[in-house]
Amino acid sequence: MLSKTFRFAILFMLVSLVLSSCNQAKVEKKTLPKNPKNIIFMIGDGMGLDQVYAAYTAKHGNLEMARCNVYGYNKTNSANDYVTDSAAGATAFSTGKKVNNETLCISPDGDTLTTILEIAEKHGLGTGLVATCKITHATPAAFIAHNINRNNYDEIALDFLKTDIDVFIGGGRDNFENRADSLNLSDILRQRNYQVVYDTTAVKEITQGKLAGLLYDDHPPKLSQGRGNMLEIASMKAIQLLDVFEKGFFMMIEGSQIDWGGHENDSQYIVDEAVDFDNVVGKVLDFAEQDGETLVVITADHECGGYALLGGDYEKGTVEGAFCTKHHSGVMVPVFAFGPGAEKFSGIIENTTFFDNFMELFGFNDEN
Ligand code: MG
Ligand code: ZN
Repeated sequence: MLSKTFRFAILFMLVSLVLSSCNQAKVEKKTLPKNPKNIIFMIGDGMGLDQVYAAYTAKHGNLEMARCNVYGYNKTNSANDYVTDSAAGATAFSTGKKVNNETLCISPDGDTLTTILEIAEKHGLGTGLVATCKITHATPAAFIAHNINRNNYDEIALDFLKTDIDVFIGGGRDNFENRADSLNLSDILRQRNYQVVYDTTAVKEITQGKLAGLLYDDHPPKLSQGRGNMLEIASMKAIQLLDVFEKGFFMMIEGSQIDWGGHENDSQYIVDEAVDFDNVVGKVLDFAEQDGETLVVITADHECGGYALLGGDYEKGTVEGAFCTKHHSGVMVPVFAFGPGAEKFSGIIENTTFFDNFMELFGFNDEN
């Protein structure tokens, strides 16, 4: 026979066990939101599976993208071609509509398409763009500009004044200050309370407010030619400046030059740029893990070069790459996602699904 005290002690233990597990369930629900407050969308331009695996090999198997718990593939074709260009590719991401190659946020019927960045801005979220190309180049431009031709860089720069974007950092100073129409857009930006800066040292010193970082006259150099950790400095500064928005933020970060390694059929160029991009993915995931309310989605607009790994060495971190074109290829490309809402990016999805998911996760119903 158990003593009365002992039976009471067991009962007490059982009751407290049930109560504490209830409490735990409550706490877990609170710390794991279903929808993200912030979305950081990272595009490795031209980054197919072989480009990712080249970075994996070069980093001796320590790929930051592998920290994501959701994987998928995205179908990259544009409205008029099996093989997309970067303008149509990024427009599908930013507007949820497939458009013709070369066009930025203009439908095949000539309609102007509103972007997720513009919609986020309208709803009072912070917004940002960071790239290792000129900021007027196709990928970042597709989040803010509307133009029938991606090469109209001076016109595209003007579109940066039409949206109240909070942070943008890349190259392309000439499109703002050395223009055919001799307007100085940086002066206008300053009148609108932007801090306009020209190097990473100055970027680091900014602690709050709006920022336009025009770090190079044209494109930033290759990593191997002295770009340094520009992408990391720019990305982490943008996150710091946007993290103060109570309603959250949307930003796009592009590793622009993985694609250019493909166009040049230069395997080492691809490796350098993909490793640089992946290192920044690691920093962004560190932030998202800490924050708990940030969704990080990483993908590519298309593959470039028909790049194939025919050999490699995990210990030495070297790869032997071959190419079958100097242009893009039509294959689907990998998707990695982490954080609240990540599960929506699994499986084989269209490049237009990113916009649809971003809208739903932010709770936006706007027509675009
Ligand atoms: Mg690009
Ligand atoms: Zn390209």
